[in-house]
Amino acid sequence: MNQKLLRDLFNHDFSELANDAQFHALFFTRILGAHELRLICDSICAQSVTLGGKTIPAAHLIKGKNAGAPYAIIAQLHGNEPAGLAGILLAMALSEAGKLERDIVAVIGNPLAAGQYFEAYEKNPHARQETRDAYRCGLSPEGTLYPDMNRIPVDFLTREPNDHHTRRAQELYTICQHIEGILDIHSARGNMLCITDHKHDSELKDSPIRNLLTGLAEAISAHASATVTVKTLKTIVSPLPNIQSQVGIEAGRHEAPEAPYNAASFTLSWLHTLGLTTIAPTFTRENGQFNGYHVRPRITYADLNYGTTLRAHDQVFMAKSCHALASVPERSELVVVKQSEDIYAIQSVADFTRKPAGTMEYAIYQYDEMEAIAKDQVVAVAVPSGTVFTAPFAFSGIFVSKSAALYDKDPSVGPWPVHADHISAIKFCYPCDVAPLTLSFSAKN
Ligand SMILES: [Zn+2]
Repeated sequence: MNQKLLRDLFNHDFSELANDAQFHALFFTRILGAHELRLICDSICAQSVTLGGKTIPAAHLIKGKNAGAPYAIIAQLHGNEPAGLAGILLAMALSEAGKLERDIVAVIGNPLAAGQYFEAYEKNPHARQETRDAYRCGLSPEGTLYPDMNRIPVDFLTREPNDHHTRRAQELYTICQHIEGILDIHSARGNMLCITDHKHDSELKDSPIRNLLTGLAEAISAHASATVTVKTLKTIVSPLPNIQSQVGIEAGRHEAPEAPYNAASFTLSWLHTLGLTTIAPTFTRENGQFNGYHVRPRITYADLNYGTTLRAHDQVFMAKSCHALASVPERSELVVVKQSEDIYAIQSVADFTRKPAGTMEYAIYQYDEMEAIAKDQVVAVAVPSGTVFTAPFAFSGIFVSKSAALYDKDPSVGPWPVHADHISAIKFCYPCDVAPLTLSFSAKN
């Protein structure tokens, strides 16, 4: 089955490789788009594996050469994050080439959401990726969001598996009880390319992804209530004594053309570093240097500096300083103009070009994931009062507040504009302190 899939996608038989270099030339020059990724997803969703006497659907055992417990690669724990399928395809290609030392369990984390995602994509392939954000979790027939597959109730093992979420959580747990290591591949709403978690530094040798988050779980739990009722897959799996290696990555923006490449390239490094393949990683400049992003607990709009001029009916927009048409950021369609000392208004760039309604002061601007923000930089502005919100310290944010116009289903994005009354409730981001980080790759670090 994999042989046919690989032949369809690469027009070549990986079992007939002349040498290792040819593997790279074949695999990494193929651009994998949604159509190709769907074929991989559909193939895995049609299969199952049996582990510990339990049959687990939407999973597939990729055969390695040697005996021993398998490793696992999880794609689409969030349905709208298809890049991980390229990591799975890489493992299939290695297996076909006779270059995979151990079995790999390929898993679709949330098959229901994954299927809905690809259907929505094919119906409207030119719609922007935000229109598919609901397939992160999947939608019920009534159009409500299903629970996030990465928010698992702490008592999930003792619940009756009567719903998809509980049943899949139990199935994923069963897989994780029978493997030696796991790679969980995600993608992001913005340009986020980083390692989100890992067990030992040694796992990251030759990683093509050089941004490394530290303290993410602690930062997230800092604001959780004392009675935590949900866990992530990572926190459920990491205490298992059989798990030797556990890595999670963000491979870039959900539908960025390079995200599948990033996922596959990281997968190759991970497998190579664990001794599961002799095919060399694509990254060849290993010097131990990473960009460390130490994650702090989330801040709200009220944690920014904003003085005393905010008014009751203000709406707070994410923004940056901007005083001329020539410097309006490419992604900005709206600007904020000053009409009098304390009256500001929003105008489209097109209208401003024709007939300015005032002097341009700010551009409405969606900050991206991991975008560097300087201390005292204007990051938001209230309209009509013109109250500016500035960064209290320098940081690069992750899980950054998103435009409500693009995200109408999920309040956890921290949708803006924010009503003046709500600034202490709406997340601005999780700020990260950025600093060089040197890793040592000796075993068990
Ligand atoms: Zn995700």
